[in-house]
Amino acid sequence: MSYAKLKEIEDWYNKPLDDKIIVAKQIIQDALNQSTKQAVAFSGGKNSLVLLHLVLQFKPDIIVVFCNTGVEYPQNLKFVRKIAKEWNLNFYELKPEKNFWQIVKKYGFPDPRRWYKKEPKCCWYLKNKPANDFYKANNIDCVFVGISAFESRTRKLHIAKKGPLFWAKRVGDTRFKKPILRAYPLAYWTDRDIWQYIELNDLPSNPVYNFVERTGCMVCTGFIGWEKQLSAINPALYRKIMHMMGKTVLADFSSHAQG
Ligand code: SF4
Repeated sequence: MSYAKLKEIEDWYNKPLDDKIIVAKQIIQDALNQSTKQAVAFSGGKNSLVLLHLVLQFKPDIIVVFCNTGVEYPQNLKFVRKIAKEWNLNFYELKPEKNFWQIVKKYGFPDPRRWYKKEPKCCWYLKNKPANDFYKANNIDCVFVGISAFESRTRKLHIAKKGPLFWAKRVGDTRFKKPILRAYPLAYWTDRDIWQYIELNDLPSNPVYNFVERTGCMVCTGFIGWEKQLSAINPALYRKIMHMMGKTVLADFSSHAQG
C-alpha cells in the first residue's frame, strides 16, 4: 500500500454521487464477469441496503445472506425480514453455532476497535464463520460487501491495500483452498452519499437509525462510546455487561441506567 493509494481514496471524498454510482456499477459488473456464483452480505444497515439495491439491478435472483447474530436490535431483525419478503429476495438467514454470551465468557468482550487490533472473536463466531461456511458449502466464489473506506481508518487502509475488487484467501478451514472474490462497490462512498442515494431512490428506512447511529449488535462493546449508547437504550443490559466486566456503572450514565 502506498501514500498514492491513500491519496487516491481521499480524492474520492467530495466527488459527485453520480460518479460513484458509475464506478460502483462497474465494480459489480466486473465481479459478475469474473465469478460464477455470487452472494450479497446484507446486515440491514444503510450501506448494505444501498449495495443490495444496486446489485439487484444486475442480478435480481442473487443469493442474499444475513447473519443473525442473536443479539440484533429487534427492529433490525424485523426490518431485514420485511425487506426479504417485500423485495422477494433469494434470502438466507444464518445462525451461529455459539451464542454471544458463550463467546464472551470464553474470550472476553470486544474492545473498542483500533486499526491495529485483530478482529474480535465474537465477530468471527457470530458473523464471519457462519458466512464463510455458507459460502464454501454453496460454492459461492464472489461476495459483495457494503464497506466504505471512509467508515474507519481500518477500512481505509484495507481498501488502499486491496482495492475495491480482489481475490481473497478463504479464512478458517485451511483445507478449502479456492479463493473468493470480494467486491466493495461502495468503497469510495461517504455516509452523505449513502443517505442521498436512499432518499433519491425512496428506499425504506431502518427504524434503528431513529435511536442509534449503527445497526450492529445491540450488545457491542467494540466501539468508543458504547456505554453511553447502551445505557440510554437498554439500561438493564448495560448494567448486566458492566457487572460481567467487573466494572461499576459509570456515574455519568447512572441517570440513564435507572430503568
Ligand atoms: S459487531 Fe460487536 S458484538 Fe457484534 S460481533 Fe462484531 S464485535 Fe461482536
